[in-house]
Amino acid sequence: MNADIFKIVFIICFAAGCLIRIPFARRSKTDGPGADHTPRLEWLLLVPIFFGMQILPFVYLLTDWLDFADYRVSAWAGIAGALVFVIALWMLWRSHADLGRNFSVKLRIREEHSLVTKGVYRRIRHPMYAAHLLWAIAQALLLHNWIAGPAFLATSLPLYFLRIPREEKMMLENFGDDYRLYMKRTGKVVPPIFRCSIARLQSALLKDFDVPAYDARDNAESAGRRKKS
Ligand code: SAH
Repeated sequence: MNADIFKIVFIICFAAGCLIRIPFARRSKTDGPGADHTPRLEWLLLVPIFFGMQILPFVYLLTDWLDFADYRVSAWAGIAGALVFVIALWMLWRSHADLGRNFSVKLRIREEHSLVTKGVYRRIRHPMYAAHLLWAIAQALLLHNWIAGPAFLATSLPLYFLRIPREEKMMLENFGDDYRLYMKRTGKVVPPIFRCSIARLQSALLKDFDVPAYDARDNAESAGRRKKS
């Protein structure tokens, strides 16, 4: 299949993603105030992400500057990329809609903030970040270029490692036991059913070494204990 088709799919999905997000991001600016908990380092990380998500893909699509890093791959990669992008867009839309007025681009708790645990928030705590991760994977599958393809994935991963613990700490401080219980029954970016499988695999691998397998639920409990002490 012609690689140009996948480039066109990428552009359409990219535009759809912007159309979904922009109205929510605009509205969040005009919604009530709330202390900003965003770490300063995050602003530094946003610069490479801007390049990985927005600049490099379009440099690749509109010029021949990155063509030296092109590679050929089966059409199935592109088809998988299109499917993953559609799922990402659905999750992006649902997560914004389910968060409603609680959504903000920055880490903040609004005056009338409520804890959302329904819709796409029922099984995972960070569906919006999961949607962006899927978007990044789709970009890698649709743009068959070693630089433009994985650029969003490579530049955005550090942000999640920084942001998710900060965000969960902020939510625990504000919603206490409600968020602690919510953490126990949900996964971060994948539903807990996968977490159980990973824990099972780990215990199977570690059983001969007498090392206890990691259980993410312990994290939620210890976070709770930390808060109480
Ligand atoms: N991490 C979430 C939300 C991203 S938007 C996701 O990936 O879907 C970031 C803002 O959402 C944060 O400032 C926080 O105040 C708010 N938030 C995160 N989880 C929430 C929840 N379960 N209920 C209500 N607000 C939440």
